Amino acid sequence: MGSYDPRTDTGIPTEPVGSLPRPSRLQKAYADYDAAKITKDELESFQDEAVEDSITRGEATGAPIISDGEQHRSSFATYSITDTLAGTGLADNLSAGGQYFAIFADGHNRQLPRLTGGPFRYKSFSSDSLKKSIKLASKPMKQAVIAPSMLALLYPLNGELPGYSQAEFEEDLCNECEKDIRQAFEAGAQRVSIDFTEGRLATRADPRNPWTGAGKLPYFIELNNRVIDRFSAEERTKIGVHTCPGGDRDSVHSADVPYSDLLPELFKLNAGYFLMQFASERDKDPVLEMIGKHRREDANGVPQVCYIGVTVTQSPRVESAQEICDLLVRAADFIPKERLGSTDDCGFSPFSIDEKPNHGSPDYAREVAFQKIANRVEGTKMAAEKLGIGVPVAA
Ligand SMILES: [Zn+2]
Repeated sequence: MGSYDPRTDTGIPTEPVGSLPRPSRLQKAYADYDAAKITKDELESFQDEAVEDSITRGEATGAPIISDGEQHRSSFATYSITDTLAGTGLADNLSAGGQYFAIFADGHNRQLPRLTGGPFRYKSFSSDSLKKSIKLASKPMKQAVIAPSMLALLYPLNGELPGYSQAEFEEDLCNECEKDIRQAFEAGAQRVSIDFTEGRLATRADPRNPWTGAGKLPYFIELNNRVIDRFSAEERTKIGVHTCPGGDRDSVHSADVPYSDLLPELFKLNAGYFLMQFASERDKDPVLEMIGKHRREDANGVPQVCYIGVTVTQSPRVESAQEICDLLVRAADFIPKERLGSTDDCGFSPFSIDEKPNHGSPDYAREVAFQKIANRVEGTKMAAEKLGIGVPVAA
């Protein structure tokens, strides 16, 4: 494992969440694969082409750390259990028609498969695609993985599966999640962040989606810590958690849920850093105040670093570097500047099939995403200079 210093190049750390919009030709290839018009190898060649473009253009933004844009993945939530969103290549002991993961503000929904029995096993791990991507990169890479709390929704909300208790499932699930993180580091990821978008949604109490009213947030925190606590303090400085109100088809699922429902609980996670949606929050100072109040300087041996979102991933408007700098300088009034970082509000396209309606097309949304990332990097450098945070001198 290398020794990436997140202050390299920008003084204040800056890191993407993970996904980028898939090009139209890749989205068409997914549909063609589901319709059995092309082979798995052919789909993979489209994925590889999009990964290469994501890495080349990601590096051109000047970012100190990049992702591969998750172009190989069906989605941020389901990459380990299905090849496509339509359910081609579903893992063993799963079938279609599980709980809604979320119902979004524009009315569309995303549904999970359901577990039919045990054991629960991943069919692919993050490292499977990272191993291929990392060969193409000259900059450090990060990897996003899914939280156990999301996949816990595969188990029936009420009752137990015959022959496979919830406790047995949770043990299998935690083992798979731990393996996913360890293998990503072994494949060369410098940082691994855990996607926890269901955290804020967990207090929504949407009657159309019963799990959101079942008081699951404390359970989610406990389950995620069961995995996080398997790592040493040194390892956890490189393990982050991402929170957001969702992001799909340029719509969100829990922006109307008060951030104050989540934040005091969120920082109970013993992670070393947090990638936090922020730019799209309307009332910003109270959020910064809560982050400053609830983040822990000692989370079982690691100080929690808060990367705040400075770009809105649902909007085609490109934030200027100056605007981003101003947000970060303001944040430093509430969060110690040596514990501050910047990120995007969310992945730019967490699901493989995403028309990006606010943008007009996924191809245009890709262009916008790279511009936003370039400005995030530039604005972060400006803020570091203004706050007197130097770039470390190379050894
Ligand atoms: Zn997100």
